[in-house]
Parts: sequence; structure tokens; C-alpha cells
Amino acid sequence: MKYQSWFDEISTTKINKQNGQVKIYKLVLLLCMLDRGMYDWYKPVRAEEIALRFYRYLTDNDRIRDISFGDKGKEKLIHTYNQGEIIRLIINNPMKYWGSSNNRYTHARYKSGVFWIDISIDPEDYSHVYHMTRELCLTRIEKETNIPFDTKIDLYDEYVYLQNEVQNEKVAETEKESIILTRLSQGKFRNRLFERYGSCIMCGIEHRDLLIASHIKPWKDSNNQERLDVENGFILCPNHDKLFDRGFITFKDGGEVIVSNRIVGDVPRLSISDKILCNLSYGNMEYLEWHRDEIFEV
Ligand SMILES: [Zn+2]
Repeated sequence: MKYQSWFDEISTTKINKQNGQVKIYKLVLLLCMLDRGMYDWYKPVRAEEIALRFYRYLTDNDRIRDISFGDKGKEKLIHTYNQGEIIRLIINNPMKYWGSSNNRYTHARYKSGVFWIDISIDPEDYSHVYHMTRELCLTRIEKETNIPFDTKIDLYDEYVYLQNEVQNEKVAETEKESIILTRLSQGKFRNRLFERYGSCIMCGIEHRDLLIASHIKPWKDSNNQERLDVENGFILCPNHDKLFDRGFITFKDGGEVIVSNRIVGDVPRLSISDKILCNLSYGNMEYLEWHRDEIFEV
């Protein structure tokens, strides 16, 4: 697995904690690097390029600020941005500390004022590796500080789980990593949909094992953003998922069901009727329009 040791490193790298202080400097350094974009985040960086951003991340949230600068000698930084001191802090702490350890398991490197992550990324993996790194980084910050960031899913646990799952499948070793990454984003899509709907939007079946996170515009036709967009999905039971997926049913913008003439005879047996009115969101509309045009067959 090509990127696994890097993902492991984000989730296990040592975080200093004492006297109520949690030093997330490494992770914030990584966040600052990630902000440079999908293709460049891991490349060499100097402290002065990211000093202000680094400071902002550590001070925008009051609680993060207190656990970062609350200890002796750093109190001044709580209220005043001192570029020189922040640069020194970045170099002496996360950059040197993380990057010049002799531990061969680390991907972090530091030399003459420059820090970088030593990883080679295949062009087709840029997006996945970038997003995964970001998620893992945010998840780790949240875990260590108990201060919520904008993600709830523990992707790392899921990654390990999928790794075991894929291990037993008959797939070429080289394809495994990309299978895992694809499933991870599907898992995320699923979780988001389950946060929005607790049951099949058509018949109300609630048992989680019977429910499917279904794309309105199918996975194969969607771009990366559409694949993860919660507006591009419904929770459906297997019966209604199949009908929707094969274009036997679709919805009007108002939520009324449209049934194909091909299955008129089975309508009473399929838990569909024109009385069903689904609660749709505004964001569903453009995807539904696509579904009515491309998937639904009268
Ligand atoms: Zn259903």
C-alpha cells in the first residue's frame, strides 16, 4: 500500500501534552502546507511563507489558542502576532522536531530552513491523497484537543477496516490502494446521507442493514465533487433503490413519484403509489433533472 505509512504517520505521530497544554504544532504546520493546494502541499516550505497562517490557525479559536500559547513564555503571543517569534517557533518546534528525527519511519524532512514531506504521489492519486491527508489531520486535531473541527468521521479507523477487507479480495496488489480510497469516499457519502435521512425516503424502512445510499446521478457519470455531494443522493430500501437506479421511477421537483409505464402492472406490489410525496431539497433538483432525462424511461 503506497501511502499507508504516511497516513499512519499523521494518525500516530507524537503529540506533546502536559499541564493542560496540547501542542498540535505539527498538525497545524501540515494544515498550512495543505492550504497550498492539491499538487504542492507536500513540497518544500519555509517558515516565513506560512507564519501568519500558522498563527491564525492557532489563535482563531479561543480554546485552541489557550492550549497552544497558555504556557509560560508564550503568553504574549496570545494577543500579538510577532512574526519573528512565530518563525522561530515553527522552525524550532514542528519543522526541526518532526523533520530531523533519525527515525526512518517518518516522511517529514528538514534541512537548512526548509521543511517538506517526502512522498511521491502518482498523478491519478493527487486528489485522494490530498483529501485523505486533510481529513486525517483534522480528525487527529479534534481527537487530541477535544475541540470540534468540521469532520465527524474517523477516517483512519475506516481506512484500517477497509484495508483488512480488501486484503482478502482477489485484486491485483497495485489496485488495492485505489479501491480503498474509492470506498472511503463512498463511506463518507453514506454517512452524510444517513445524517440527513434515517429511513427509506419512499416507504420509511428503517433497518440500517437494509438501506442503501443511492446516487441520483450515478457514480460513473459524476465528477469527484458530485460523487460526494449529499444533494446527489437519497437513502432508499433495496426495492426502491433498484427501481430508481434502473429508471423505473423518478421524482418531480415537488417530490411526487413518477412511475414508468413498463411496470404499471406491478405497482400495487412495489410499495409505490402516486400518494407518496418525498421531502426533497432544493439541491436535489438539478440532479433529479438529470435523472429524469438520462435514467428514467417512460
Ligand atoms: Zn423503500
